[in-house]
Formats: sequence, C-alpha cells, structure tokens
Amino acid sequence: MKKHFAFVNVPAAGHVNPTLPLVGELLRRGHRVSYAVGRKMAPAVLDTGADLVELPTEVPKLGRGDQMSPQHVKRMVDFVCDDLRASYPLLREHFQDDPPDAVCADMMAPHGRMLAEELGLPAIVLMPSMASNEQFSLRESGAGGNQESAAELFVEMHARISEVATALGVRPMMPFQPDSGDLNLVFLPREFQPAGETFDERYHFIGPLLGERDQQPWQPRDPHAPLLYIALGTAFNDRPAFYRLCLAAFADSPWQVAMSTGPDVDLADLGAVPGNFDVRASFPQPAVLRHASAFVSHTGMNSTMESLHAGVPLVAVPQMTEQAINAGRVEELGLGRRLDPAALTAEQLRAAVDEVAADTGIRANLERMREVIRSCGGAVAGADALENHLA
Ligand code: UDP
Repeated sequence: MKKHFAFVNVPAAGHVNPTLPLVGELLRRGHRVSYAVGRKMAPAVLDTGADLVELPTEVPKLGRGDQMSPQHVKRMVDFVCDDLRASYPLLREHFQDDPPDAVCADMMAPHGRMLAEELGLPAIVLMPSMASNEQFSLRESGAGGNQESAAELFVEMHARISEVATALGVRPMMPFQPDSGDLNLVFLPREFQPAGETFDERYHFIGPLLGERDQQPWQPRDPHAPLLYIALGTAFNDRPAFYRLCLAAFADSPWQVAMSTGPDVDLADLGAVPGNFDVRASFPQPAVLRHASAFVSHTGMNSTMESLHAGVPLVAVPQMTEQAINAGRVEELGLGRRLDPAALTAEQLRAAVDEVAADTGIRANLERMREVIRSCGGAVAGADALENHLA
C-alpha cells in the first residue's frame, strides 16, 4: 500500500542532507512525501521530487565566540520557541487538510512529534546525531567546559517550550528526548553509538546516507601529492584564526590541502595562501574525501560519518559539546585523534595529521568500520523499516 509521509526538519544541512536519500528511496517505491522545512533547505528538498511545505524557520547565525556562550544559549532557546510558535499552526493546518500516514521528525524538530500526537499518527524520529537512552544520554554527556551551558540551555528550554506548547494546545516535547519515537532511524552504525547494544528494536542504526553526494565530480589539483581536507562544517565555522593556524601548519609540507572556510570568512583575512592550498567557501565534501588521506574536522556527525565511509583518518578539532562527544568516540575507537582547539598550535596539528595518516592501527580500524558502514543498509534499510512499521 502506498503511504503518505510527512517529514519535519530544521533548515540545516547537517539535519536535512542525510534524510534526502531516504526521501528519494520512498518516492522511488511510489510513496508520497510532504517535506516541511525552512526556505534555506527548500531547493535540496525540491530536488528529490518531494512536495515542499515551506516553514518560516530561519536558524540563527552562530557568531565567532569560541564555544556555546550564554548568548548562544539564549539565542537557541529563543529560536526554538519562536519557531514552534510560528511553524506549528502552519504544520497543523497543512497536515489536517492533507493527512499523512506517519510523521518523520528530526530529533531537533519536536514540533513534528507534537503534530503526530495531535493527529494520532505514528511518530518516527530521525537522528543525525547519537541516540539517547537510560545508558547513554547525549544531553548529559556534556564534554569540555560546556556542561553548565548545556544544562542551563535544557532547563530554560524545557520551561519555555512548555509555555508555548500549552498556549498552542499541544503536549510539549523536547529536542533530544530519550525514547522519543515509536521508531527511530539513526544515521550512524550501532558500533559508533556509545552503549550501542543497549538500544532496543525501536532503534534502527541505518548508517550514514550519502546518496549520490560522493559521486559529484571533483579532482585534486595535484594527482601525486597526498591530500589533506580541512573543514568545520556549516554551523560553527566562522573561525579565521583557526584557518590561519592551518595555513601556518601545512605551508611548508608535502601535503596538498583543500580547506573549506564556509561563506562568512573573508579570504583577505587569512593573509597569503601558500601554493599547496586550495581555499574555498565550500567543497563537495564526500567527493573530496574519496581522495583524501586525512581530514581535520570539527567532527559534526555527518562529517565524521562521511570520513569513516571513505576510510579517512580524522584529526578532530571540535567546536561545541556534541562534536566533542563525537571526537571522543573517534579516539576511543582508534579512528583518529582528538585535539583541544583552545590550546592548539600549528606544530601539534601538523604532527597529529602526519601521525594519523601513517598509523597502521588506525588504518585497520578504519577498514573494519568501513565494512560495518557498508552493512548498515542506508536508505533501503530506512525505507524498509518505515514500510514495516506502517504495515
Ligand atoms: N559540507 C559540504 N561542504 C563543505 C562543508 C560541509 O558539503 O565545504 C557538508 C558536509 O558534507 C556535511 C554537512 O555539510 O554533510 C555538515 O554536517 P556536520 O554534521 O558535519 O556539521 P554541522 O554543519 O551540522 O556542524
């Protein structure tokens, strides 16, 4: 039986990108998908052939601050509440008129779960980050100096979301809530998930979903020199001082370096760019990683998975709590090294890159993880799980 799936997401590449191959697979099987998201990610959604339900959500820009500062925390709470207030009535009106069979909501889009409950539909949670249960909680595993900010964020967010949801006449739900869906699709392998064996049958670890992204055409400038790729993702990437440190670290080295700076860094702020560097606002990352021998990364979950999918060792320079947790897991599983970005020197960075690229133990672990990722099932496993759940 053909079904109608509602997807509800936040307009951020790291959240929307991994869902697109799943949407593509559902459409290929003849199902209908209505995808609710803010304008920034609308073109990517429309490319899949899904119907777009445009929401007014604009994710706030993160500043240059080193970590999650109290100002960031306040802006995030304001964002979640304003978005709920503005988006929920639109979601409700749209999907009451055109009811889906199930709602697939990103873990950061609790309004999707609230909608499912109000309409009496199955809620499926999409998890592009680690899942949480009684044994492991992303929320409570705050690393580094961010624990207080994270705790503060959640307490304040809880109270304020409750207020907005109550005014909307729905039961409040929170981002990152453990046990959040009837079915949870997690975009990483169980082996990468801390306490992975403790997640029950409601959790399907379907691995990263890259779709065709690693097939985009891209060739390194020099086919002979080893390629180092450097990128900090799409959110906490306005870091000119870090990029200058990278230029210093690898200027006189055998590495050819592809460095993604994001759209906000002015290249003039970086000074002279050595000849072995290719510096751009953005690269087709999974395609670049196919050629890379090392990746200096913020270890956002998508970047981490794309690196492991390509078998590339990681040097982690996490920029916020969740990335630090991923970085810790990378080091624990022997897939790369974690550095402290606050105390980082050019020499340390260069040494870490040289080390991970030459380490045969890391290479063997990467090969194993690559096999694990290949066996996760990806979009096909995700679509099978959705169909079985609704059968
Ligand atoms: N990305 C890209 N090109 C770039 C930088 C990032 O395609 O130059 C993509 C990357 O492949 C990944 C996503 O943006 O899919 C970043 O997601 P991640 O979870 O790693 O970090 P976030 O942006 O959420 O911090």
